[in-house]
Amino acid sequence: MGRRKKIVEQCERLMDNPEQIRNIAIAAHVDHGKTTLTDNLLAGAGMISEDTAGEQLAMDTEEDEQERGITIDAANVSMTHEYEGTDHLINLIDTPGHVDFGGDVTRAMRAVDGALVVVDAVEGAMPQTETVVRQALREGVKPTLFINKVDRLISELQEGPEEMQERLLSVIGDVNELIRGMTEEKDDIEDWTVSVEDGTVAFGSALYKWGVSMPSMQRTGMDFGDIIDLERSDKRQELHEKTPLADVVLDMVAEHFPNPVDAQPRRIPTVWRGDADSDIAESMRLVDEDGEVVLMVTDIGVDPHAGEIAAGRVFSGTLEKGQELYVSGTAGKNRVQSVGIYMGGEREEVDRVPAGNIAAVTGLKDAIAGSTVSSAEMTPFESIDHISEPVITKS
Ligand code: GDP
Repeated sequence: MGRRKKIVEQCERLMDNPEQIRNIAIAAHVDHGKTTLTDNLLAGAGMISEDTAGEQLAMDTEEDEQERGITIDAANVSMTHEYEGTDHLINLIDTPGHVDFGGDVTRAMRAVDGALVVVDAVEGAMPQTETVVRQALREGVKPTLFINKVDRLISELQEGPEEMQERLLSVIGDVNELIRGMTEEKDDIEDWTVSVEDGTVAFGSALYKWGVSMPSMQRTGMDFGDIIDLERSDKRQELHEKTPLADVVLDMVAEHFPNPVDAQPRRIPTVWRGDADSDIAESMRLVDEDGEVVLMVTDIGVDPHAGEIAAGRVFSGTLEKGQELYVSGTAGKNRVQSVGIYMGGEREEVDRVPAGNIAAVTGLKDAIAGSTVSSAEMTPFESIDHISEPVITKS
């Protein structure tokens, strides 16, 4: 069996075990390294070649983005990762890093349960960091922190261990201040803040593919002193091999982000304003794959062969080909032509996609980013004004 086919089968198996799924977003101020990190994770998980990671920029799919050098469209990628002997399916939704795309960031956050906040060690927390942290918390999404470009502190700024530690602690302090400022009413505030000790903070270099966290130091025996020595002596390949960034970050994702079964009961009352006593609310809270189908569309992409593809989070029920589904804000129903999941950055058609997963669907011709697509009429996640064709009248 081909390697790709094996991975697809593995993903299909994991899809039915919501405890092993993590739906996450990487959120960052522009240029802090989100795209480079994503490529690292995909390469580490075996989804793209190690050699091209960093150059490939898998997430930047739109030509326009490549020209402008910013990520503007929320693309989706999925990967598998083994953590403590258990396979995990990690679905990653890209969030736009540019301040103008706030609405898309909110929508992406609504579809995920964890947000990996990336901050450039040299620049520190920036306005867009504050925006994404705020959006994550508002949507009940748990943050963890990755401080990127630590290689620059060592090799470019020639900082010593103490100076570096001071700087990194100050970045963590700033991010926690943002979190505390936005969770004033929460009595479980310390569950939301990040810390080195509990493993919710990792450091590293997405460019040179190494990373470190408290749990990784315990596992590999590599401490900051070893890292500084190897980075200074230009032994970055050795550093990558000894403490690969993808493992450090994906372990943190598996350990610290909630799975859909833990997240949905808490999040549904926060992100959905419908009747809490309805069957559909209950089905979403329970991640019930036998309940009514509920898909929240985060993104519409275009495939040269399949046409428009609606991607989003399945909160309840099971998506299958041939289903006739309502699309919020429009009359009538759309027929599902195919359902798929992401494998790396590519769409792979499957027979069914159950609750708790990120699905890619064709045939939803009336859906736009933000649509709620469902088998029963329901209160949508957000109200959307569809722009109708102008009616030309003779005067
Ligand atoms: P995004 O806008 O957040 O997606 O950022 P990119 O991943 O496109 O990275 C922005 C720039 O920072 C690119 O030139 C990267 O090569 C560079 N970069 C990303 N990560 C690192 C890192 O760990 N160290 C250094 N020195 N540069 C990095």
